[in-house]
Amino acid sequence: MMEQYLTIKQTCEDALLFFRLGDFYELFLEDAICVSELLDLTLTGRGTGEQRMPMCGVPYHAADTYISRLVTLGYKVAICEQVEDPKEAKGLVRREIIRLITPGTAHDYLRQENYRPLIATFGVVHEEDWTGAIADALTGNIWTRTGDFESLCNWFDRMQVAEVIGDPHRYPNFVQPLREYAQRAGIVYSQLPRYEEEGPAVADETGAQILLRYLEYTSKRTLCHMKAPESMSDHRFMELSASTVRHLEVIRPVTEGRKGATLLEAIDYTSNAMGRRRLREMLEHPLQDIQLIVERQERIVALLADAVAHADVRAFLKQMHDLIRIISRLSFGQATPRDLWQLAESLRVVQLLREQLQRESLRASFATISKRMYECAGLIEQIETLLSEEVKTGNQEGQIIRPGADPEIDHLRDIVTQGRSYIMALEQSERIRTGIKSLKIGYNRVFGYYIEITSANLHLVPQDYERKQTLANGERYVTKELRERELAIAEAGEKLRQQEAVRIAELIDRAQKMLHLLQQTADAVADLDAIVGLATAAKENHYVRPIVDDSSELRIIGGRHPVVERHTRDGFIENDTQLSCDQHQIALITGPNMGGKSTYMRQVALIVLMAQIGSFVPANAAHIGIVDKLFTRIGASDDVSAGLSTFMVEMTETAEILRGATDRSLLVFDEIGRGTATYDGMSIAEAIVEYVHDHTRARSLFSTHYHELTELPARLPRVFNLSVAVKEHGDQIVFLHRVVNRPADRSYGIQVAQKAGLPTQVTVRAKQILGVLELSHKEANASLEQVAISFVDQTVDMSWREWIEEVADLPLEEWSPRQALHYLFELQERI
Ligand code: ADP
Repeated sequence: MMEQYLTIKQTCEDALLFFRLGDFYELFLEDAICVSELLDLTLTGRGTGEQRMPMCGVPYHAADTYISRLVTLGYKVAICEQVEDPKEAKGLVRREIIRLITPGTAHDYLRQENYRPLIATFGVVHEEDWTGAIADALTGNIWTRTGDFESLCNWFDRMQVAEVIGDPHRYPNFVQPLREYAQRAGIVYSQLPRYEEEGPAVADETGAQILLRYLEYTSKRTLCHMKAPESMSDHRFMELSASTVRHLEVIRPVTEGRKGATLLEAIDYTSNAMGRRRLREMLEHPLQDIQLIVERQERIVALLADAVAHADVRAFLKQMHDLIRIISRLSFGQATPRDLWQLAESLRVVQLLREQLQRESLRASFATISKRMYECAGLIEQIETLLSEEVKTGNQEGQIIRPGADPEIDHLRDIVTQGRSYIMALEQSERIRTGIKSLKIGYNRVFGYYIEITSANLHLVPQDYERKQTLANGERYVTKELRERELAIAEAGEKLRQQEAVRIAELIDRAQKMLHLLQQTADAVADLDAIVGLATAAKENHYVRPIVDDSSELRIIGGRHPVVERHTRDGFIENDTQLSCDQHQIALITGPNMGGKSTYMRQVALIVLMAQIGSFVPANAAHIGIVDKLFTRIGASDDVSAGLSTFMVEMTETAEILRGATDRSLLVFDEIGRGTATYDGMSIAEAIVEYVHDHTRARSLFSTHYHELTELPARLPRVFNLSVAVKEHGDQIVFLHRVVNRPADRSYGIQVAQKAGLPTQVTVRAKQILGVLELSHKEANASLEQVAISFVDQTVDMSWREWIEEVADLPLEEWSPRQALHYLFELQERI
């Protein structure tokens, strides 16, 4: 057996091998040591001394939880099963790997909210054009995109790919970049085993083919639910960087696990898992295509105009099971009778939904959705006539097929039930025959049926009883009759199970043949649920329909932040926005910390995002000229852990933004230019504003603490000032969260610090220092440069100045290390 184990282990060296032995999966050698540590299992062993072989095991019926924990930790698991009946095996039972479960393909193991396993890879179109491909084994979606290495990696990041796949056979050149990317992103890299080439692939689908091949390799089957690849690279979609999605908390909170922080949560009013997934996909790929956006808006309008229809459709959507999951289970060969039952139930609901969509109020706008919903009446009928309702609660063998549906099954079931009731009756008649009142007939899996007699009555046991087992307080017996009956029950039971399995296999086969229709139906239901959810969100939260066109306007009246407004107890303060390329292009926002600057800027970005998925928006009115790329540069605390300084991260992102932005883009910079010395930062900020003003011409919102920048509108006509208003109460300030059309006159930093509870001694002293600084600043009344020099002059006395000059002139290139050290000593002496 160990030979068999080692041979199989060779084929999956980077996976933990779960080796089936009877009712357990056993792990051996290094796998056993690793898993016992990770999952806190007892490490046992066979043999002694040096020969002792480490092993540990998990019961097969509880294996799923162990597997999902391992996969969550980034491991791959290979499941090796006995593939022949041990009773029929000659010698060693044959075993094979029946499935590899990896972080990117474990959709049926990892069902945590928000977690969606995806795999990705690269292919080529032409020399420098790469294609990226991403596949979702649950929904069957495959997306492709062309671009350069960086932009594809950015796409993988944004989609939170869990595993990348290398193909050393066809694309050896991509192996290294993929490995490096995986390492950088902290995800798993996997490799396809060698295979025979089968004809040339369509160029831009090569990545998709690698992924399909990998899915076949891990699932050990041809998956018929995987769809044709869909290209995401054309201009139908808004471009979003991974960091924008992260900073705006579109899908996931910046602080892992925080509830209620994301846009997805704020607008998710879907009724089932399919709609929830679709909404997420919509947010991952906002549109640029006005026609598609308007089509979605029209549907929301129709639903809001007919509250009854809206409520009815919603109620039906809530009754839907997760058809997409059932379809993937059919494709993976995991479908159970219960899945089939739920399939039929859901398809019945589809019929009702279709009727709803025929209503006058919905018919026109939902025609393309209802056309994709198939009734599948034949399949429903077949499932309902064949399956018994028992399967709703479990898959009890012997009771799966509905009574009356199959005469042979009925007959076998009768034999089983009659046999059992005969045995129960036997208990009564044997009590009378033997005179033993406590005589009992029982059953266990090892001995089958037995008659149990307590010690006190042993003298009454009749001749024909055969002793089977001795207990502490009695004996167990069998009789010839009991044995015959038992055999008959067992035989009929076995045939019953087989026959049931045959009928179920027929049903599954029928459903699989219709997989594509079922999939289209499920997709249509997902689209419907996502839209109905957006309509509900619009109604519940008082959103309005934005005008979306190809102008360069960005006008929002009474805008609100969709997430913050849900958490603000004292009422959220609405604010207006007016940006356009040719007049109000760049808003500079000043005002104290906590005044509401970043909330305001994020709100504008989120409203644009919502408008471009076709949703209504949190405002009294809005006019959004399509945004081609949305860039945000907000906070960097989450990137710092990667080893880059805050300032470096900020500048790298800024560089990407300035390179990529067009006059159709929207830029949002929080505290532009911070993170370095004041004058550096201010100069960089000013230069960026100039660049965006003169070259990029993108609509922009920049917040800053550099009050000097508020002078820019005098020089740059499309720049204008905004600030967050505060009310002063003597020494205190109150934040009004109202955005006004003028620069802030002060930063109120000390007042904010006071509010935060800084010791009075510190804030009082800070005020004194501020007074002095403001005074000297006024007296100097000088250009930036002069101010800089005057600072140096004040703080550095002349002897320092001389030293500095001396050090600057040192001929370091010519010096030996010894000479340098010598100089250092001398310097120390002089101090
Ligand atoms: P800043 O970026 O100026 O430091 P924030 O945007 O972070 O300020 O806002 C600080 C807090 O003020 C937010 O957490 C929010 O609770 C509240 N706030 C901001 N804008 C509004 C608003 N328009 N209405 C109500 N509360 C707001």
